[in-house]
Amino acid sequence: MRIRELHQSLADIGARPCHVGRITRAWLKGIALDAGTRRQKGEDYFPVRVRDGLAPVAARLDALARVRSQHPAADGSLRLLVELEDGQMVESVLLPRGGLCVSSQVGCAVGCAFCMTGKSGLLRQLGSAEIAAQVVLARRLRAVKKVVFMGMGEPAHNLDNVLEAIHLLGTDGNIGHKNLVLSTVGDSRVFEQLPKQAIRPALALSLHTTRADLRAELLPRAPRIDPADLIEQGEAYARLGGYPIQYQWTLLAGINDTRDEMDALVRLMKGKYGVLNLIPYNSLENDTFQRPDPAHIAAMRRHLHDNGILTKIRDSAGQDIDGGCGQLRARAAETLDT
Ligand code: SF4
Repeated sequence: MRIRELHQSLADIGARPCHVGRITRAWLKGIALDAGTRRQKGEDYFPVRVRDGLAPVAARLDALARVRSQHPAADGSLRLLVELEDGQMVESVLLPRGGLCVSSQVGCAVGCAFCMTGKSGLLRQLGSAEIAAQVVLARRLRAVKKVVFMGMGEPAHNLDNVLEAIHLLGTDGNIGHKNLVLSTVGDSRVFEQLPKQAIRPALALSLHTTRADLRAELLPRAPRIDPADLIEQGEAYARLGGYPIQYQWTLLAGINDTRDEMDALVRLMKGKYGVLNLIPYNSLENDTFQRPDPAHIAAMRRHLHDNGILTKIRDSAGQDIDGGCGQLRARAAETLDT
């Protein structure tokens, strides 16, 4: 379901634009729509025709997504396995301090070598209302002040729905545009489209290496853009929006944690308006990739910092509960298969 279909369904029951806005805002706050239609200050909040017609629309919205299971973690995050109307599942993660990570696709076509979601390929796109529904479900559990599009899927491969959801969240969802973060492996459509948006989100770029050949191995179906060019395009967007780019770097022991990579990063990123997020890989048993040891990670951060690169170490949320993107869904799918 697209947001515009929701708006059309409301218009079909006789809601005027002001009613549509009120109902949409109530939904995005996580309020049950029947409660959102209560009398306010002795006045009917909506005309009778709208109140009477709302039940089927509310039922349709409720059916979009439901929380199938909740997985709290020691770091304060809460991972949600969300079941969609057709039985497909995605993950959302409530992060400490009011953040929410949402999924934009079921599966993903990019096929990153270190990502569980990529292993299934793309199964289907999420509609913009399904993306917004993840925020609604999360807000029924906790306050959400920031939404990052870093869950399952490559947002650039579902850009129309993602931009529609961003617009809705940045307006009726009451989230500041810098608290909406679109993450991409680097697709030219993102750089074309974002500057034209009324709600211009912050941008995260999945870099992972400075070497084009290694990037082609690690991100096999990402656009073949040279990492140096990706940083240049990111820089142009950062300067336009007045907000730094977050460069994402999943740390893989012996692969992209070398001194050569760090030196190349310093050359490419020095003076750029961006933050480097080092994300130590979340290893599973018998995994091809391993997480570098903590002393090495700390030394890398120090080296980058000392050379003028603002660097943060970010663990993927919920390390103790299959915290990597897609691991929870994969485990649920395994359970269903057995
Ligand atoms: Fe897709 Fe992101 Fe996983 Fe890569 S890391 S396969 S882009 S979901």
